[in-house]
Amino acid sequence: MSEPRRLGGRDAADRVERDALDRLEACREAGVDPCLATLLVGDDPDAHRFMDYKHEACADAGIDTKRVDLPADTPAETVYEKVTDLATDPDVTALFVQVPLPAHVDATEVRRRVPSEKDVDCFAPANVGRLVQGAPRVRPVTELAVDRLLSAHDVAVAGRDAVVVGRTPAIGTPIAHLLCRRDATVTVCHSRTQDLAAKTRAADLLVTAAGVPELVDGSMVSEGVVVVDVSVNRVQRDGESHVVGDVDAESVGEKAAAMTPVPGGVGPLTMAFLLRNLVAVSEPSPQETGG
Ligand code: NAP
Repeated sequence: MSEPRRLGGRDAADRVERDALDRLEACREAGVDPCLATLLVGDDPDAHRFMDYKHEACADAGIDTKRVDLPADTPAETVYEKVTDLATDPDVTALFVQVPLPAHVDATEVRRRVPSEKDVDCFAPANVGRLVQGAPRVRPVTELAVDRLLSAHDVAVAGRDAVVVGRTPAIGTPIAHLLCRRDATVTVCHSRTQDLAAKTRAADLLVTAAGVPELVDGSMVSEGVVVVDVSVNRVQRDGESHVVGDVDAESVGEKAAAMTPVPGGVGPLTMAFLLRNLVAVSEPSPQETGG
C-alpha cells in the first residue's frame, strides 16, 4: 500500500488559536482579563512537562496564570482546600486540574469543587452530565481536538466501525461518546480487554489513547484503517529521548489509509482548544464551547 495520508493537526490548530486570540481581545475590551489556574498533584515528569506547555502557551498569548504543583503524597484534605482556594480566587476565571490524581485523593471530591463556569476541560460534574446528554456547556479539549482533526481532514465517521483504546473519563470515554454521536459503531477497549488485536483488526477507524508505547503494531490492524493516535509517550532510544504514540508508525503505516503523526497530530489541537476554552469560559457572557 502507498504511504498513508498524514492527518496533521498544526494547520487546524493555528485556526483555533487565531479564533481564541480574537476572542481574547474582545474579552479584554469587555473588561475581563482571563486568568488560568492549574493544579497538578504528583511527580510524573511527563505531567509536569505538559503543564509547562500549557503555561508557556498562555504566556505566549499574554494570559495570566496561577500554577499550583503539589507532591504526590500531599494529604487529600490539603488538595481539596487548594482546589477550593483556586476556585474561589476572584482573579481566576478558568480552572484546570491535571488527571490522574493520586489514588488517595478522591477525584469526585475534587470535581465537585471545580465551579462549572470556570471549568476548561469538562471536569465539573454538571458539565460532564451536560456533555453526556448532548447539551455541552464546555467540551473536553482532547475530544474537541479529535473531532476537529477528523473534520479538518474530511475523515468519514458515520457508519464506520470505530475502536477506541482507552476509557478514562478525561480522554477515552469522551472520544467514544463523540464517535457515537457522529454515528460510528463504537467498541471501547481497555486493560482488561481480551484479545485486543482481534478488536483493533475489526476497526476501520482506530483511536488509541492507552499511553503504552507502540502497543498496536501492523499485525493488529486491517488494510485501509484510519488511525488517530492520541497518546504522547516518551521513550529512550539510542540514548536519546523520543516521543511516540500507541501505534508503531512504521508497521501500521504500511497498512493504514491515513494516520496522525506523533508529535504533530492531536497534540497541537489540544493545546489550541485549551486556549479557546479558557477564553470562552472567561467571557463576560460565556458562550458554549462546542465545535
Ligand atoms: P491513563 O490514565 O494512563 O489511561 C490509559 C487508558 O488506556 C486506560 O483506560 C487503560 O485501561 C487503557 N490501557 C492501558 N494499557 C492498556 C493495554 N495494554 N491495552 C488496552 N488498554 C490499555 O491515560 P489518559 O490520561 O487517559 O491518557 C491517555 C493518553 O493520552 C496518554 O498517553 C496521554 O499522554 C495522552 N494525552 C494526549 C493528549 C494530546 O493532546 N495528544 C492530551 C491528553 C492526554 P484501564 O481503564 O483498564 O486502566
